[in-house]
Amino acid sequence: MRATDDRYRSEQGRFDLAIRMIGHEARTGTIRYWTGLSDDRIRKLYAAYFKFKPDGVKRRRGKSPTQITPLVDSPLRTLESGVLANLLHGGGLFSAQPDGGPRLRNNIQLGHRFCDCYETYRSVVAAPSLSFEWGWNLLTNIRRGEELGVTRCGQCKSMYLRDLLCLPAPDCPVCRSVAVSSPGQLN
Ligand SMILES: [Zn+2]
Repeated sequence: MRATDDRYRSEQGRFDLAIRMIGHEARTGTIRYWTGLSDDRIRKLYAAYFKFKPDGVKRRRGKSPTQITPLVDSPLRTLESGVLANLLHGGGLFSAQPDGGPRLRNNIQLGHRFCDCYETYRSVVAAPSLSFEWGWNLLTNIRRGEELGVTRCGQCKSMYLRDLLCLPAPDCPVCRSVAVSSPGQLN
């Protein structure tokens, strides 16, 4: 009986995570990665829960984005992607160790935590511009550690993302935006 309950719970957990991710317009390949559900099951879930909703969730096709430049192409965007990176770091979704962090494939608990981080990012940034898939791209690139790196400013101690192949390294976006937008003294 216990084994059946556990199997049911894990099956239900996978469905719940898939539905949560479909609601964020995640691509089928991303949902398959996190949940282990087949493309056919994911299509059926989408059809059952979202297809005929009037405020329609879109089903995104094709591959997830893989580029990193749009994540760090201006100080403002770098600040914004840094918010999500900080949340993901706090949530334990990546680490500075060479292995990149815990295993994510078929990890229902961390899949929900990734959704928590993404939803928090959407709620704390005034005009969020990163789709769920761009958030996923951000995390996978940080974990890969080849092009996108996390760095901490020696001055203000902010943690932010940077293109590791860009030399010289760009200045901290926080310090730069303070220098640009400082409103001066209030007397
Ligand atoms: Zn700084």
